Amino acid sequence: MGWLGLDDTDSLEQGCTTYTFHQLLEGLPSSVQVQTPRLVRLWPFAQQRTRGNAAVAVELITEDEPQLLEYLENFWNQNISEMSGQISESEHDDRIQYPSDPGMVWFSSHRPDESFYFDSVRREVDLNDVPPASRSWGGLGRIGATAAVSWREKSPTWEAIVWRTRERHGQNERRVCDSTLKQVDALSSTFLSRDPRRGTSLIAPRGPCPVLFGVRARDADTAKFAGSALRDADETEDSIAMRVFVTNQATDDHLGEPIQTTVLSTTVLGRGSTCITTEHGSWMAFEESGSVKLLAQWLEAGDVILGNGLFPEPGVLHLEKLRILTAVPVQERPKCLDCNVRMKSMGSGQGCRCPKCRVRTDKKWVEQPRIPPYTSWVQPPEDARRHLAKPLEWDNVNN
Ligand SMILES: [Zn+2]
Repeated sequence: MGWLGLDDTDSLEQGCTTYTFHQLLEGLPSSVQVQTPRLVRLWPFAQQRTRGNAAVAVELITEDEPQLLEYLENFWNQNISEMSGQISESEHDDRIQYPSDPGMVWFSSHRPDESFYFDSVRREVDLNDVPPASRSWGGLGRIGATAAVSWREKSPTWEAIVWRTRERHGQNERRVCDSTLKQVDALSSTFLSRDPRRGTSLIAPRGPCPVLFGVRARDADTAKFAGSALRDADETEDSIAMRVFVTNQATDDHLGEPIQTTVLSTTVLGRGSTCITTEHGSWMAFEESGSVKLLAQWLEAGDVILGNGLFPEPGVLHLEKLRILTAVPVQERPKCLDCNVRMKSMGSGQGCRCPKCRVRTDKKWVEQPRIPPYTSWVQPPEDARRHLAKPLEWDNVNN
């Protein structure tokens, strides 16, 4: 037995890594027993990332390893090596696209340490740092492929992926039954199926890739049930296959411990994106981050906050979660009790005086508490979250 990993076979022509992997698994020698395939999301800022930055892996059990290796060698040569150098279709037009540099790894009987997985999900990893496999093929994709093998499943989630028929590959539009999607979305174990604000589907990728949809759930049975229901619905277009992957999506594995800091200042940038200058560097709340951005804009110097996110560059935290711990009160001039108007300072070291009735007070300032718009953790809305981000409501016990 051993572990197979594959990454970066995205390309305009051939589609996506999950589909290549499905084809590979379909053709395995009959002596090979296939365990649950895994879909592993990695460091979102990887310099040469492809579409979803996901790698795949699986445990394979066989008595005939030479036969398996011969099959893998042939599959690589006939189906994957030619993808090297192709440019993948992007979901976001503004991002630089890099040519595919696929990689495949085979770990016979041993698996690399879990620490390599956490390195690959939390920071940029160099190809030179990849633990050696029993057998490996290709280039940069070996990083993700090895990370997918290294991942240990602790509180994982599941995703049922359904692929379109051959003749539909390369087309942008997809037909998935909307009424079935509503039913699937209503199941307590599914997540990120529909955008609750817009009512739009979150299960189908954009662009020409072979995936018809991927439906996510917190347990394998629900993923399988929801995937089958959507696949079999009359209004859903024809498909060729479905597989249920165990995934690290919605695990927060990319995040470390929250950081506590004090706000020094805030700056609202274009389109509401907000930079919080803190005692622990710059914290960025982006335009699409919803409540995170609104809370960031509300902050004042002296407020104590907790934050979590990623550091794509040193000293700059891209916020994925934000919480206010203490808000400094507002300092105001006291009000005249008779006239209900704000009193004015009589000069440094002196008290205040009512501009109307001239009554005086020794008080220079009174404090008003500021009421935050949110008092517990906030995170971006569903459609603006990373695949790795865990919904806050799963952690309610900690709030
Ligand atoms: Zn007065």
